[in-house]
Amino acid sequence: MNDWDVVVIGAGGAGLAAAISAAERGSKVVVFESETEVGGSTQLSAGMFTAAGTSVQKAVGVNDTADRFFQHYMDLNQWKLRPGLVRKFCQQSGPTLEWLIGLGVDFPAAISSNAHEPGLTQAGVEDVWRGHVPRDQGYGLVQVLDRSRRSQGIDLILNTRVEDLLIESGQVVGVKADNVDVHANSVIIASGGFSHNRSLLERFYPEALAAGDDLFIVAGTGSRGDHIRLAESVDAELEGHGTGLLLVTAYLQQLHHWQAGFPPKSRIYVDKTGRRFMNEDISYAVASGILHKAGGSAWTVFDERARTGLPSGYANWTAESVRHEADAGRMSTAPTLAELATKLSIPQTALSSEVERWNNQLPRGVDRDFMRNETLVNKGDSTSPDPIQEPPFYAARTVPAELVCTHTGLAIDESARVRDSAGRTITGLYAAGEAGAGVLGERYVGGGNSIANALTMGRIAGLSSTTT
Ligand SMILES: Cc1cc2nc3c(=O)[nH]c(=O)nc-3n(C[C@H](O)[C@H](O)[C@H](O)COP(=O)(O)OP(=O)(O)OC[C@H]3O[C@@H](n4cnc5c(N)ncnc54)[C@H](O)[C@@H]3O)c2cc1C
Repeated sequence: MNDWDVVVIGAGGAGLAAAISAAERGSKVVVFESETEVGGSTQLSAGMFTAAGTSVQKAVGVNDTADRFFQHYMDLNQWKLRPGLVRKFCQQSGPTLEWLIGLGVDFPAAISSNAHEPGLTQAGVEDVWRGHVPRDQGYGLVQVLDRSRRSQGIDLILNTRVEDLLIESGQVVGVKADNVDVHANSVIIASGGFSHNRSLLERFYPEALAAGDDLFIVAGTGSRGDHIRLAESVDAELEGHGTGLLLVTAYLQQLHHWQAGFPPKSRIYVDKTGRRFMNEDISYAVASGILHKAGGSAWTVFDERARTGLPSGYANWTAESVRHEADAGRMSTAPTLAELATKLSIPQTALSSEVERWNNQLPRGVDRDFMRNETLVNKGDSTSPDPIQEPPFYAARTVPAELVCTHTGLAIDESARVRDSAGRTITGLYAAGEAGAGVLGERYVGGGNSIANALTMGRIAGLSSTTT
């Protein structure tokens, strides 16, 4: 007889949800966590959770269904994902959110204008408001999950990195950790992504490395991609190549915006031809794709008034640090737009006419070209930005450089079971979160796609593992 019914690898969002739901079904569960504390990337996140048909939506008057969510999700991803799996995810995201509320996570029934304000929000690409932000964000979410883990009597072994799977006759029968064999009926891989593993980024997400020295990684330190090695040891199918979440940032930003601060509202992005090409406040879900199509990099252009208006107290985007960057010659600055264009090697007339065009649109209330005024209103901001006209002018190199999460993982079915390279289910093996692939696609859907995937598929993995 095995010591454990279920072994869970990783105590982030997916792992904790899996462990708790397996224990709720009566399983004896142990969780291994490589770091000295629980939480992984989940703990660092805003905790925003995308879900349809929830009590929170209902309470603020948003009509929504899993079917509608499914249609939107598949359309946005151009139907390149497996519909059966995505339908299950869309159907279970709502019940999983209710389950979290039952455990004690507080998702206030209030409209929120951003990922930092608890309530229901819209991150820009949703057809209806689906972004549920919990109180105390990802940290609060993990605290509730860990409290629930303890009350279920689930063992947690910190500071212990699972090294291998135990495999007998093609079936997974446990794990090896600290050189000890631990036998179990089921193993759930919930070890997160591989943002901190350069060689795996080269293999599976080279787009992230295109940022060069500007690349910075905000994912949890445990995101080392151990799931890939575990997958290969059992010939599991890998899926999700070339996808992840990269946020568009100016080169001077090296931290998540909570700490880094925000670029000035009065700014435009121009491409190498000096043309404005996108809504600067468009959802992060699609911004990198637009920038990629425009050649992969752009310039953030703003003026002295915008610089001096930056609030203090942040690490990167403050009036002083922009001045410092300009003085050090890392950020381009010039007394006229024509001279700035020359420094950037972009056509002078294009830059001047784009700035003039923008000055005549959004600062006067409406951005006819890119409808940024509507995006700002959705973010709770209805005041128009200032025109860009006060010298000196500034330009900061801007690329998709903030790596949040990666999507290549073990291909799972709608019960979170792992498949092998021939498409057969591997007995005893489940995966979820960034380690389990198939739900997260090319297009990050709304705000909260990844947390919803981790918690929903983690919960499904935990429930399924008890039926092995
Ligand atoms: C700053 C930031 C903000 C974000 N905001 C949002 C948001 O608001 N909404 C959203 O949807 N997504 C957001 N994301 C992305 C989201 O947080 C993650 O994709 C998601 O939490 C991943 O969950 P997970 O359980 O798969 O991985 P994790 O939460 O990273 O958990 C994996 C755990 O496994 C452990 N581990 C790794 N290898 C081993 C091993 N061999 N043995 C044992 N343990 C191991 C790790 O240490 C880690 O604790 C954000 C991410 C960041 C970094």
